[in-house]
Amino acid sequence: MSQLQQLDKQYVAGTYARFPVEIVSGKGSTVVDTDGKEYIDLGSGIGVTAFGIADQAWRNAVIDQLSKVQHTSNLYYTEPCAKLAELLCGKTGLKKVFFSNSGAEANECAIKVARKYAAEKKGSEYSTIVTLCNSFHGRTLTTLAATGQEHYHELFQPLTPGFVHVTAGDKQELQSIVESHKVAGILIECIQGEGGVNVVDADFVKFAARLAAEQDIIFMVDEVQTGNGRTGELYAYMHYGITPDVVTTAKGLGGGLPIGACLLGEKVQNVLGFGDHGSTYGGNPVACAGAYNVLSRIDGALLASVREKGEYIRKTFEGAVGVKSVSGLGLMVGIETEKPAAEVVKACIAQGVLCLTAKSKVRLLPALNIPMEQLKKAVQIILAACAQ
Ligand SMILES: *Cc1c(COP(=O)(O)O)cnc(C)c1O
Repeated sequence: MSQLQQLDKQYVAGTYARFPVEIVSGKGSTVVDTDGKEYIDLGSGIGVTAFGIADQAWRNAVIDQLSKVQHTSNLYYTEPCAKLAELLCGKTGLKKVFFSNSGAEANECAIKVARKYAAEKKGSEYSTIVTLCNSFHGRTLTTLAATGQEHYHELFQPLTPGFVHVTAGDKQELQSIVESHKVAGILIECIQGEGGVNVVDADFVKFAARLAAEQDIIFMVDEVQTGNGRTGELYAYMHYGITPDVVTTAKGLGGGLPIGACLLGEKVQNVLGFGDHGSTYGGNPVACAGAYNVLSRIDGALLASVREKGEYIRKTFEGAVGVKSVSGLGLMVGIETEKPAAEVVKACIAQGVLCLTAKSKVRLLPALNIPMEQLKKAVQIILAACAQ
């Protein structure tokens, strides 16, 4: 083991099973390790580096703001924060934004909003939040409770109470939960990311949105992974023709700097008042300047190319040797392989391609602007790894 890896193992909390790859630099969809070996990056830091590594325009926006002022606290106004909020609202039709620093925090905000709305409107006993089985919403004790996967819960009891999980696609079960609980909100991923790149049935999503509207329940979509162009629409809910009350996002929004956002629709735009919520770093001007650059570049042409590249990946893997099935939308792809996914990922690393896993699948989340030539080369390497 190298000196760096020993140092990390000794001093960094052991929460991550890292691959033995030491990344030192990169450009676009290429990353370079300490030995100078190049990799084609199909993971983009788990869907974060939306325009790849050290993208010129994003860097300029970040460095420009960094050179002016890097932080002020939320006691004062800064332009990047206000302008990013305006752009997010303009592109979605939602009304206001609360900025945080991560996806989990964006979801924490959403849950607080749903509970406060319900408490004021119906009474504080209306506190239940319904989420999907097999979902992923973050690692804080509340977003863990929201996460519908028991194995994340086991050793951290008691979690925040008031969460109920429904089987994705089961309208009947959702209906009976809403009838038997005092529900404040429904929170779903339209495509489950960590849960295995599962596209949630459109009929179910529409049913849930309609049921929520009828019962004055806050309907929230977690777009932390699916958002910001990833699936070929700006936000994945846009594939479904629904209008959520709350949209949370993070990952790709910042292009590589930590930022989260909780977007509030008409119904809940004024639920949060002075002192109801806050974050020291939230709306940080450097992160917001980078995010503004990312978001302003996700236009119709880029989204069309994301859909095209996604189609190319899916078509290529469907029916390929060693591949059982392919799932996902746009550049969010799950590949169910005959070999264990982790083995495929290891073989790919050896051949110079970085990809991810999600449950039993190989997961691809390339940069939105990955050049076709690089994508094709990487796909060939993954195909070979699946077939071996
Ligand atoms: C990654 C992820 C989160 C958590 O985001 P963090 O920034 O790690 O807190 C929440 N929801 C979904 C759908 C995610 O993919």
